[in-house]
Amino acid sequence: MSGSTVLKFGGTSVGSAAAIRRALAIIGGTTGPRCIVVSATAGTTDRLAEAAAAAERGDGATARAHVGELQARHARLAEELEVQRVVPELDGLAEATATVLDAIALLHECTPRSRDAVWAFGERASSRIVAAALEDAGVRSTAVDATDLLITDDVFGNASPLMEPTRTAAGSRIHPLLEDGVTPVVTGFIGATAEGIVTTLGRGGSDYSAAILAAALDASELLIYTDVSGVMSADPRIVADAKPLPSLSYAEAAELSYFGAKVIHPRTVRPAIEAGIPVRILNTFAPSDPGTTVTAVAERDGTVVKATTSLGGLALVTVAGAGMSGVPGFAARVFDTTAAEQVSVLMISQSSSENSICFAVPADTGERLRTALERMLARELARHDVERVTVEAPIAIVAAVGEGMRGTPGVAARVFGALGAARVNVVAIAQGSSELNISLCVGEGDREAAVRAIHEEFHR
Ligand code: ASP
Ligand code: MG
Repeated sequence: MSGSTVLKFGGTSVGSAAAIRRALAIIGGTTGPRCIVVSATAGTTDRLAEAAAAAERGDGATARAHVGELQARHARLAEELEVQRVVPELDGLAEATATVLDAIALLHECTPRSRDAVWAFGERASSRIVAAALEDAGVRSTAVDATDLLITDDVFGNASPLMEPTRTAAGSRIHPLLEDGVTPVVTGFIGATAEGIVTTLGRGGSDYSAAILAAALDASELLIYTDVSGVMSADPRIVADAKPLPSLSYAEAAELSYFGAKVIHPRTVRPAIEAGIPVRILNTFAPSDPGTTVTAVAERDGTVVKATTSLGGLALVTVAGAGMSGVPGFAARVFDTTAAEQVSVLMISQSSSENSICFAVPADTGERLRTALERMLARELARHDVERVTVEAPIAIVAAVGEGMRGTPGVAARVFGALGAARVNVVAIAQGSSELNISLCVGEGDREAAVRAIHEEFHR
């Protein structure tokens, strides 16, 4: 229904009676039709994963013990919120989960499909508790299993939504509730195939569920409630005066998450962004903080570098030699080797003289790659067309991100000026032609100084 709001609460936001009470107050404070999406309570999915792993080893007793513990934990939560009436239903869900685990233990085999059936317990349980508590707080409410409305493909463990059937199913299941003034509390993370077999959307998938539902329901806003007040201009553990960012474009959010700003995973909110629905990230524990709004297009707010971020634990691999210059296909061979070694490359830089090509990879893959590259380049090394393959570690990537950098002259000068003043040695540089991000490699020991220097330059 247009004009409706989807509110999603993450694992810590439903992780205790106190947190759930805060969530109830937030929901109660909104007006108009709204649809709630909840994660499993914090730690539950991890525990279910342990249970499935134990069952797969044939250890059905341990698997059942995990579920028993989760069942007790949820019953306690229900008691604290005075909604004991849901406990029999929770017991039923737990018993069904234990039965699947017994079957897994018997076969010593856990297919992704059986695992999804186990993992679904967490969101099913939390949604029952939240819906009942909401009802008692005076908001007419009902728990809804997303298996009734979020239709996916059959890639168990990492399913993707089928938008058209989801739109139809969500509309016919949710719209009548909203029209009746009932607030549905929908399970995050899970869906079902068209045949009704339960699937999951990948770990952390409840944001994805919320975005899919927001799009399917033509909602006007998606509010993601988590335990931080949005995305910051830098990691506050490194930069004491880092500030929350009021707005981010989708592209900026994607850049930042790539470099470890773990607040949201942009892929998961894409369905909402594509449908033109703004996504706000808010803090359940500080609900009046403005949070961060992510939209498809960047607002022109006069900022140049919006955020400075970094990623450590890397190695810089350099292949150097005068005989590489002007040889077509050389880079392809280098990156065929990284692909064959199943190493993901985080940053690439090559000077236009083509005398060297360097790239950053996870530190623990550096030596393995050196060996593989030396083998692949044995002939070139013997002829001295390639002089050397070197690995430098530990290295960090520091990135300055912001759409305001595009077409603004002098940004690079300010970045490198600030680093020079802080006496940080820059080992390699890359800037994509989208001009959204300047990335540079520094020694791990210079990482924090580099982040502080750039942040200070653009946020004073
Ligand atoms: N409960 C799921 C997980 O922990 C999904 C989520 O929390 O978003 O991965
Ligand atoms: Mg979670």
